[in-house]
Amino acid sequence: MKIIIFYLFSLLLTIEGRAAIILLDPGHGGEDVGATNKMKDGSLLREKDLVLELAKEIKHQLSFYQHQVYLTRNRDEFIKLDERALMADKLNADIYISIHLNSSPKKSSRGHEIYYANSQSNKAISHLESLENMQFGEHDKEIDMVIADIILQKTAPYSKRLAAFVDAELNLKENKKRGPLKGLLNRGIKSALFYVLLLSKRPAILLEVAFLSNKNDQKKILQKSFQKEYAQKVASGIHKYLLSEEESLIASRQK
Ligand SMILES: [Zn+2]
Repeated sequence: MKIIIFYLFSLLLTIEGRAAIILLDPGHGGEDVGATNKMKDGSLLREKDLVLELAKEIKHQLSFYQHQVYLTRNRDEFIKLDERALMADKLNADIYISIHLNSSPKKSSRGHEIYYANSQSNKAISHLESLENMQFGEHDKEIDMVIADIILQKTAPYSKRLAAFVDAELNLKENKKRGPLKGLLNRGIKSALFYVLLLSKRPAILLEVAFLSNKNDQKKILQKSFQKEYAQKVASGIHKYLLSEEESLIASRQK
């Protein structure tokens, strides 16, 4: 407990003066395929494959900003949620970004969402929570809620800001007018109790890039140009967030 609190207080002191460490987490993997959708030719699209591609592209785009970027998995393998979160500790990561694709029985549901961890969520979101938390066993859920609350209190404002920076880049007016992101609906920033975000114990967001169950979204996800543009915007949002944190830290010192 003491270690966690110490870590949270030193959160911002770690970024200044060095490259930021970013841990990207492509969701699912191995036996956990995530959402799926059958193509007309009978082939099966799997969330676990597509989010790995996207994570690699985001890593590539972040490399232009000189940050140190790591992936929780580089290939198709099963990794438990708590093991993924533990990697953030081992790397001393500044931020944690989990990448997923949404899915709904309602085929018309479409668009992208950005989540940050919070203990309050509504009924609509609890369906998604159960999907993304699925590999987390019932007994694993007995996290000490006192510790969980401390973590959320300390990290949620940062996570929310990180989400806002990424959301702003994805929703630039120019994206709506032209280019591969045109037509991608913005469903906004939401909070939910995603265990992987909570357990990472640092500013963390979960990207639900688009709906695999929606025809138009699916088409976009499969386009290389979309993947590249989406990754570029996410990288730019992350970079701007890191810059703003560093600037506010310097400003507070000069007061
Ligand atoms: Zn997922």
